[in-house]
Amino acid sequence: MENKFRRIGILTSGGDAPGMNAVIKSVTCAAISKGVEVIGILGGYSGLINDRIRPLTKNDVADIQSLGGTYLYSDRCDEFKTEEGMQKAIATCKKHNIDGIIAIGGDGTFRGATDLSIRGIPCIGVSGTIDNDITASDITVGYDTAMNTVMKLGDALRDTCESHARCNVIEVMGRNAGYIAIETGLALGAIGVAVQEKPFDKEALFKKMKEARANGRRSFIVVVAEGLGGEFSESLVKEIEAATGIETRFVRPAHIVRGGTPTLADRNFASKCGAKAVEKLLDGVSDVVIVSRHDEITSMEIKFALILDRMYKNKLKDGDLEKFSEAQIEEMKKICDERRKYFDEMYNVVNTIGY
Ligand code: ADP
Repeated sequence: MENKFRRIGILTSGGDAPGMNAVIKSVTCAAISKGVEVIGILGGYSGLINDRIRPLTKNDVADIQSLGGTYLYSDRCDEFKTEEGMQKAIATCKKHNIDGIIAIGGDGTFRGATDLSIRGIPCIGVSGTIDNDITASDITVGYDTAMNTVMKLGDALRDTCESHARCNVIEVMGRNAGYIAIETGLALGAIGVAVQEKPFDKEALFKKMKEARANGRRSFIVVVAEGLGGEFSESLVKEIEAATGIETRFVRPAHIVRGGTPTLADRNFASKCGAKAVEKLLDGVSDVVIVSRHDEITSMEIKFALILDRMYKNKLKDGDLEKFSEAQIEEMKKICDERRKYFDEMYNVVNTIGY
């Protein structure tokens, strides 16, 4: 069958994540190698609406896999959620003969990809989000780098906490998921980790800290996920001091964790996702997101991935499951169970060995 794709578009949308550039490079090189031209769309869906494009060559992207941020810039665009905005986006695709789009971002970006797909522009989503909050995929592009950035910051804080016999509370990103917090909490030897997915026993933390201090422990790290709200971590600092008498400082690295040089794991995962996205698009697949399941890079229908996400977060709405077969619902439950089991195990280890 002759390939119907002569030119494809690529964009990055929503919150940026280290590794997005490796996806851009991979998509560009894979597509050009198959004789397909690549158009970079600048600033996510707003670039599509406002006709901001940059044709990409292999030379343009040859070394961008090592850069943080996104070479194509990112934006949030409410106009794209309207039918009028959507039609402007489609007009841009028609004007430049863009036959399909690869959209890198989070679940909002995938919703946009579905809206374009059902209006005749085939789209494939690739995860680009540091929070690892795409239930469909075991890992997401940017997650590994974000965790390593937090780990390096936390190690530096540990040094100075140890010198001064202090505690440091670190609030890490993760609006909808506590993955960064539990993974880095373990890596940093945190005495406590607070995440929105689990009830947090402050009294148990204070007791543990007092016992450890009595045992000669000088420094303490407590990691809090952003999802609990800024007031939670800031008031925890005061509560720790009041309950334990241990001097406690607060750090919120915030967007520092979104930037920086992507790790090897992120670069290579991103590169594999990009190549898979091109393969799927040129095979005629649309309205799917590229995911990693048990170390295999595969694809999943976006509508399945979005409802799966709601199931995992206990946010299913009436009728959400109606479009799916019994087997698909079972599959969703299995994925949710796997993820919850992983999260529970991590959480237990952190709490067992935290000191
Ligand atoms: P992320 O992709 O990281 O989840 P957002 O939720 O901000 O980030 O979504 C990114 C962009 O995707 C939005 O600014 C908007 O342009 C588009 N988008 C989000 N939700 C929808 C939707 N329901 N329909 C169409 N486009 C959407």
